[in-house]
Amino acid sequence: MTKFIYSDTYKVSLGEKHRFPMEKYRLLRESLIENAIVCKSQLEESKPIEVEHLYLAHDQEYVDQIINLSLERKEARKIGLPLTNEMVIRTMASIGASVRASELALEYGVSAALSSGTHHAHYDSGEGYCFFNDFAVISRLNRDKKVLIIDLDVHQGNGNASILNEDKNVLIFDMFCAENYPYRKVETHINIPVPKNSEDGLYLELLNKELKTIDVSSFDLILYQAGVDILSHDHLGLLNISHDGVLERDKIIFDLAKKHGVPISFVIGGGYAKNISETVSAYVNTFKAAKNIFKF
Ligand SMILES: [Zn+2]
Repeated sequence: MTKFIYSDTYKVSLGEKHRFPMEKYRLLRESLIENAIVCKSQLEESKPIEVEHLYLAHDQEYVDQIINLSLERKEARKIGLPLTNEMVIRTMASIGASVRASELALEYGVSAALSSGTHHAHYDSGEGYCFFNDFAVISRLNRDKKVLIIDLDVHQGNGNASILNEDKNVLIFDMFCAENYPYRKVETHINIPVPKNSEDGLYLELLNKELKTIDVSSFDLILYQAGVDILSHDHLGLLNISHDGVLERDKIIFDLAKKHGVPISFVIGGGYAKNISETVSAYVNTFKAAKNIFKF
């Protein structure tokens, strides 16, 4: 039976003033149990990623500077999270969660990390709350496989593009809000900017239309960044998608994987609603959509 990987037990405190909603990870884990979407035995605590695996996608010096806490202050500030020992361990556990989920997906058809989707991390720099890039590491660990990355977070996956654009075994499908961060996008294989304030109708129509251009059955693994910062309630996202719209989006992606028999591993990505319960319930819906289709 498949399992789902969490890393929130690696404690890190940001202080009350920080706007990153660190609590959402634990709340998601608890909500999944409370809503009987997964049982406790289906949850597995992640292990921190091996440093050698980070080197597959990142500059060795950059990785070492993060781990030794010696990254220049200006570079560290771009990431937006404090560079502390507990943060490094948590970050490595989060990348480890995503990697482990991809292994389970290859074995059982589906899995997920209750975290991750760090698509703004580049080869030798981090930004936008991302130190290291999970999908880049997974893609490099699976060079013998064809990997389809579907990134539906409201923010463009500039790090995925900058690291993986030239990798022959990877196809990136990235749909994001045109007016959102990052303000300098890194164009990728299938690049779909959506105008701000777009609502469910336009968004879902565009998604369905663009997905048709992909020969999905030719892939061995789908990595899905299911960020819920496309929600109209989101504090950082500029799209206007309803909870039903997000649920429909997830259903479309899971149906696609199921129909073509391609293993799918998903990560929760961004979510910054002012009321954290909006974000958490959207994440729970993503797991519900997956459960309906994969019957785990
Ligand atoms: Zn985002």
